[in-house]
Amino acid sequence: MIQSNYFHDNADLQQHFNHLVEWQPVIDLYENGFVDAAEYKASNNPRYEMAPSSHAEALQYYKEILNSCGEVAGMHVSQVAQAIDREGLKFTDNNVVHPQKMMDAIAKYREAGLPPIAFRRKYGGLGLPSVVKAMASELMYRADTSTTIAMGSMGLAGILEKHASEDAKERWIPKMIAENYCVAMGLSEPDFGSDLPSVRTKAVERDGKWYLTGTKRFQTVACGLNGGPAMMLALARTDEGSSGARGLSFFIVERKDYTITGIEKKLGLKASATCEVALDNAPGELVGQEGYGLVRYVIGMLNGARMGIAAQGVGLATAAYKEAKKYSLERIQFGKPIGELPAVARMLSRMEREIAAMRCLMIEGATIVDRYQSPEYNDKITDASRFWEKIANTITPISKYYNSEMCNDLVYDALQVFGGSGYTEDFDLARLYRDARITNIYDGTTQIQVNAAIGGVIAGMSANGQWRQYLDTLTNLIGKNDAISELRARFEEAVEAWRKFENRDLKEGMAFEIVESAARLVNSLLLEKSLLRAEDKAARAKLAAAYHVDSLAIVTGNVIRLKAA
Ligand SMILES: Cc1cc2nc3c(=O)[nH]c(=O)nc-3n(C[C@H](O)[C@H](O)[C@H](O)COP(=O)(O)OP(=O)(O)OC[C@H]3O[C@@H](n4cnc5c(N)ncnc54)[C@H](O)[C@@H]3O)c2cc1C
Repeated sequence: MIQSNYFHDNADLQQHFNHLVEWQPVIDLYENGFVDAAEYKASNNPRYEMAPSSHAEALQYYKEILNSCGEVAGMHVSQVAQAIDREGLKFTDNNVVHPQKMMDAIAKYREAGLPPIAFRRKYGGLGLPSVVKAMASELMYRADTSTTIAMGSMGLAGILEKHASEDAKERWIPKMIAENYCVAMGLSEPDFGSDLPSVRTKAVERDGKWYLTGTKRFQTVACGLNGGPAMMLALARTDEGSSGARGLSFFIVERKDYTITGIEKKLGLKASATCEVALDNAPGELVGQEGYGLVRYVIGMLNGARMGIAAQGVGLATAAYKEAKKYSLERIQFGKPIGELPAVARMLSRMEREIAAMRCLMIEGATIVDRYQSPEYNDKITDASRFWEKIANTITPISKYYNSEMCNDLVYDALQVFGGSGYTEDFDLARLYRDARITNIYDGTTQIQVNAAIGGVIAGMSANGQWRQYLDTLTNLIGKNDAISELRARFEEAVEAWRKFENRDLKEGMAFEIVESAARLVNSLLLEKSLLRAEDKAARAKLAAAYHVDSLAIVTGNVIRLKAA
């Protein structure tokens, strides 16, 4: 893998950080009048020591974190990723052994003061807005997926900040940070993956305490890291006679109280433990209210997880693209570097513009999540926060679907640039290809993301709908633009054609065409918007124009399919 600081060597990411992200509203909302810095001044509480006290300090703080992340990821972790993958995991006596190189890589991130990026400073976290977390995740995923998953798993417990009692937050979050907990998302069971409302793990209450019994499958890092602590945030049925989502509640279960009965042998993610977990009357601590497990808490956790996968897609695609670009300059065929052959140049330029679009979508999605989840909005629901929550509920599944599918597509092309060498284990492409394949499956498959997004797009495109308002705001911002107008007209046509379907199966079966069209339009708008503040306007305008042509071809194709259905 290329060895460099992955934040510094990425011109597009630098452009976003330095010019494109609208930091003022993010900082205003997230730092909330710099209350954390004021708290440090008043109390000297070390949890707030790093808190910025001005806009400039906040930006500097975020930049330093990304610099450190890029340095550890690109200079160290990327260099051991292949060895970690080759060594893989060992399972003996109900325990999992991770490669020592992976443990060392995680230690390097920790020495740089990086994890946990998930939590607010109040509980001992770095207190980063989602947009900075997304950028940091991209850098780490570019270096190695298995290591990043293990290290970032604690982020799933961010949901506790929102829904656990104050007492539970104080008991758990600082302890998790201090002891480097791994956290597993305890949803899937052998018989239920997408169909979460049907999960069967049971929780019963005895003498004021809860006990869980059942089997959870596919539990990423539920084993902890080589003897380190772990917990599962488990979905279980508290209302015994119930079926469906309403009878499900959410529990913290500690590693010492469940058994790892096996790990999966997988296509990729060779050093990420995917565990089968047996719960046999395991003590569990109820989070929030009974019955809200799936409908409120897990859905909240999945919104964060979706943005995590959107970043994973950008990281993996960037790794593949940068490796392919480098190879295309070095490999000579027919007397010239293969990158000069039009057929290879075509693949590389598509990768470049698609990654630019994926990054715009990731950053937009994260910024929108910040707008409704910022501490101020958590305490005070406003019309604006309600609006952004609706948009977030649509744009997060779109980001997850688009970036994971496109990541697979681009890693496929990157391997193609390497020719036969890409298919060998001599280069990193084979690993990237295997690791990419899971992105559109876990944390909800693409089909489930489409189900999650379609309602927000269709209802949102009614006369006063929120998605229409969102598109209008972006369109007004960029001003007159023929390519965008044509694309918007085709998208409206697609929505109209879908609305005419009376058959439910047809609606579900053709939902992908609508969600894909929505994603292409939003990405085209975001690329155009980025031109307003970009430094490299000419090069970016060319890239955006080529993206719009691809978008128009895809959306027009979708209109033809929808009308023919
Ligand atoms: C490496 C790995 C790590 C994982 N980590 C975790 C974890 O930490 N915690 C956890 O709880 N789970 C985890 N999972 C499980 C993962 O989230 C599920 O595999 C995924 O949600 C799909 O569920 P399934 O495998 O049961 O497939 P199924 O639900 O059986 O789906 C099979 C196919 O049917 C389609 N389908 C199903 N229902 C619908 C529908 N209503 N509409 C349209 N299409 C549908 C799916 O899209 C898919 O194509 C992990 C899985 C893997 C492989």
